[in-house]
Amino acid sequence: MNTDLMDYDEVVSRFDPVLGLEVHVELSTRTKMFCGCPTEFGAEPNTQVCPVCLGLPGSLPVVNRLAVESAIRIGLALNCEIVEWCRFARKNYFYPDMPKNFQISQYDEPIAVNGWLDLELADGEVVRIGIERAHMEEDTGKSLHVGGHTGRIHGADYSLLDYNRSGIPLIEIVTKPVSGTGARAPEVARAYVTALRDLLRGLDVSDVRMDQGSLRCDANVSLMPKGAAEFGTRTETKNINSLRSVERAVRYEMTRQAAVLAGGGTVYQETRHFDEADGSTSAGRRKETSEDYRYFPEPDLVPVAPDREWVERLRSSLPAPPWERRKRIQSDWGLSDPELRDLVNAGAVDLVAATVDAGAAPAEARSWWVSYLAQQANNRGVELAELPITPAQVAAVIAMVGAGTLTTALARNVVDGVLAGEGEPADVVAKRDLAVVSDDSALYAAVDQALSAQPDVAEKIRGGKVAAAGAIVGAVMKATKGQADAKRVRELILERCS
Ligand code: ADP
Ligand code: MG
Ligand code: ZN
Repeated sequence: MNTDLMDYDEVVSRFDPVLGLEVHVELSTRTKMFCGCPTEFGAEPNTQVCPVCLGLPGSLPVVNRLAVESAIRIGLALNCEIVEWCRFARKNYFYPDMPKNFQISQYDEPIAVNGWLDLELADGEVVRIGIERAHMEEDTGKSLHVGGHTGRIHGADYSLLDYNRSGIPLIEIVTKPVSGTGARAPEVARAYVTALRDLLRGLDVSDVRMDQGSLRCDANVSLMPKGAAEFGTRTETKNINSLRSVERAVRYEMTRQAAVLAGGGTVYQETRHFDEADGSTSAGRRKETSEDYRYFPEPDLVPVAPDREWVERLRSSLPAPPWERRKRIQSDWGLSDPELRDLVNAGAVDLVAATVDAGAAPAEARSWWVSYLAQQANNRGVELAELPITPAQVAAVIAMVGAGTLTTALARNVVDGVLAGEGEPADVVAKRDLAVVSDDSALYAAVDQALSAQPDVAEKIRGGKVAAAGAIVGAVMKATKGQADAKRVRELILERCS
């Protein structure tokens, strides 16, 4: 790890950061960008391939209409202009995960240009991020480097190649340079990717799983001394795969570049890798310029000229943007501004909404996601949405508490079981034997035993000191391993002592 870092407060007092975010979204079309192969995640390697996506000689690509439609909808939702005419381009380079030796992409003629996205920071401040372009391209295959460290090719014993991902439709969304955010640059970067993810999820064009690579972010960062007129040299940290890492990577690059610049050194335009383990970045390849890719118009595909009527139809059928949905949820659930913001910041809006749709009351659904489940996500270092529990399962647990089958403490135990992969809530209740002891005769026995074990306390209760019952309730809860309903236990104690 590079230990030459400048203290963050000093960085932002001496430099202004500039950001540029490139986000790749894998579309959830059923088939690939230029062939009919399926796109499902997780299949056996090299089972979803054909001559086109394997780049075999003589094969010819055909554009996926639904992918173009998704690109247009994304462009419209990002307030972009949808061009009247555009083309695909060949981006030439060699890499084993790309068997044609070129990627079909778009270069100087992207389908959507010049838009913006507003995002809200944790304290409610709204920042507008300019969108330079959104363009269509195909994904590459996936290489797995075995035997080395951190999964990189250097030091690996051998590499495996899986072409299932090769040719999956991608939309790359590129921001204009983002300046003027100062100390909040890392937070802005994270908030942008979060807002973009929510927007894409609402469009239903991608499953936006950063952990599965269907949403990936490259973060460009540069620094300029305060008051400078020109941007500094940027680095591009590639393939960041969680929201938290986006924030950490930007912050790390700021402190690293500041130390380099302050020491009279040079920041090189290069790609960098983010190391999840220690939060540092390390140098990749020195940046090639676009000339190196020898882009030229793809001769095997006709230009794309989206019909204006089609574009307008897509525009009028866009779903309400996430912030409008939030406003509606806020009034439906009676939330204050800070309560709503907490939900949004926790990435819990959709999860709570789905839990409510599955039958839970909003207040309880909200409380589970922002407290106990948020804590579990935090312990595991993952996003809430990545926890292995579904809104329907959370709703089932809430229903069992409502029905008196589980106490809150038992319900947490059930949730732990679901998170540990022990099955549906009902399975966990059975396997862990967690249902509330609702049989009064068993409770009477436990109450009587606790009362005779603490005769002085029993005496106080009999003498009218009802508050003393707490100690007996505690003893009974302990004896029943928390499986009793404390309220009922209390009633039984008072009854016995009356
Ligand atoms: P590349 O082909 O190198 O990935 P792109 O144009 O696709 O280049 O993306 C570069 C990103 O970096 C864009 O978001 C752009 O706005 C941003 N950017 C450009 N110059 C700078 C700079 N000096 N500092 C930070 N970001 C920058
Ligand atoms: Mg780029
Ligand atoms: Zn194919």
